[in-house]
Amino acid sequence: MVGEGRRGKKGEEGRASGLPFPKKRLGQHFLKDKNIIRKIVSAGAVKEGDIVLEIGPGRGALTGALLETGAAVVAIEADRDLSDYLKKEFPTDKFRLVTGDALKVSFAEIAAESGARLKAVSNLPYNISGPLLAKFLEERAAFSVLVLMFQKEVAERIIARPATKEYGTLSVYAQAFTDARTAFNIPPHLFIPPPKVTSTVVVFDVLERPRVEIVDERLFKAVVRAAFGTRRKTLLNALASLGYEKPLISEALAKAVIDPGRRGETLSIDEFAALTRAFWPLKGRREGIL
Ligand code: SAM
Repeated sequence: MVGEGRRGKKGEEGRASGLPFPKKRLGQHFLKDKNIIRKIVSAGAVKEGDIVLEIGPGRGALTGALLETGAAVVAIEADRDLSDYLKKEFPTDKFRLVTGDALKVSFAEIAAESGARLKAVSNLPYNISGPLLAKFLEERAAFSVLVLMFQKEVAERIIARPATKEYGTLSVYAQAFTDARTAFNIPPHLFIPPPKVTSTVVVFDVLERPRVEIVDERLFKAVVRAAFGTRRKTLLNALASLGYEKPLISEALAKAVIDPGRRGETLSIDEFAALTRAFWPLKGRREGIL
């Protein structure tokens, strides 16, 4: 887009350095602190022989440090100007760049082409970090570990426990399929340009098998979505959006030994899995979608 970001200062933010200006619409905040970059790389224990997927390499601050370990990097960058810059900056066959929208690229295909499980290490564009995390979790078989940077509030939602206001669909999905922990925070002044929020690095060790027995992943996600859909409603009412008649919802809740008067946000991951198993034999008796 012509003129985009031109209000930014020259020098480290702008063209004086030969770099394209940061683009707000692409969530561009570039890391400038070498110590933090080192900490991110070691959070993923990145080493020679690893194949790392990086979403949004930007000006390559993290990419360079990943390549220095001897790992190979496959990066997906949406910004064409930055892609041209990155190709010149890293002229090595250990660096492969895909120019495009990471939400539309198959991570599973990249892993299959590489012949190995990948490590993901990324400072994500915050405007699409939720959908990107959902995609990582969907395609988790392609990864052994994910080291991802989020806005602090999103990181808090990912690791939240039941019956807290942060607990939601992201918490349940992330904790059902990975061991997720926050590693460290990064203050705004360590980025160019500084974002308005504090950032947090989250490490997800992908589990070989889900933490709980999930009989049908689509149904599990539908049950979780419905339970959190209307937070103020009891489960008996909130689950109606699944398309079952109320007596069947009562039957499933009784089978899972869950009080129908409880609210979705109080359920543990184990209880969501039990509820999914209780709905599973009733699948054909739904009026609605799935
Ligand atoms: N990794 C760099 C760093 O830490 O300095 C840049 C991180 S910046 C927060 C996010 C990057 O993601 C930007 O380079 C931006 O252009 C890129 N980006 C934004 N939307 C994207 C998308 N849909 N697919 C791939 N990259 C995207």
